[in-house]
Amino acid sequence: MEDCIFCKIARKEIPAEILFEDFDLVAFRDIKPIVPVHVLLIPKKHISSINDVTEEDSALVGKMIFRAKELAKELGIAEGGYKLLFRTGENGGQEVAHIHLHLLGGARLFEEIRPV
Ligand code: 5GP
Ligand code: ZN
Repeated sequence: MEDCIFCKIARKEIPAEILFEDFDLVAFRDIKPIVPVHVLLIPKKHISSINDVTEEDSALVGKMIFRAKELAKELGIAEGGYKLLFRTGENGGQEVAHIHLHLLGGARLFEEIRPV
């Protein structure tokens, strides 16, 4: 996708602190971290939201979760625990329309989700 900011990061057209890359995925630090360890994992394939994931994408999404677990270990937050988050659509608070898995850790993340 031409104008997608995360596709641009995957193509190295805009800089990011990349922590991991393979044929399918890129992981990089969030530009505005909300916790001490805040990493985003994206597929190189443009998928706009979890609503657009097809059955053929399931292995790819599984790889994202596996890689998040590996990165959590490498970044020293596996033992203490962490959160994995996909925001989806407007009510989910999704701002970038290219699926990304937030890996959040390094702090106690106990906040409750309350209806507004
Ligand atoms: P969302 O609200 O869509 O789940 O999260 C989007 C995330 O992407 C936010 O945490 C935001 O800080 C991060 N982000 C947006 N633009 C950029 C960017 O250009 N570079 C990096 N590294 N992170 C970004
Ligand atoms: Zn994209």
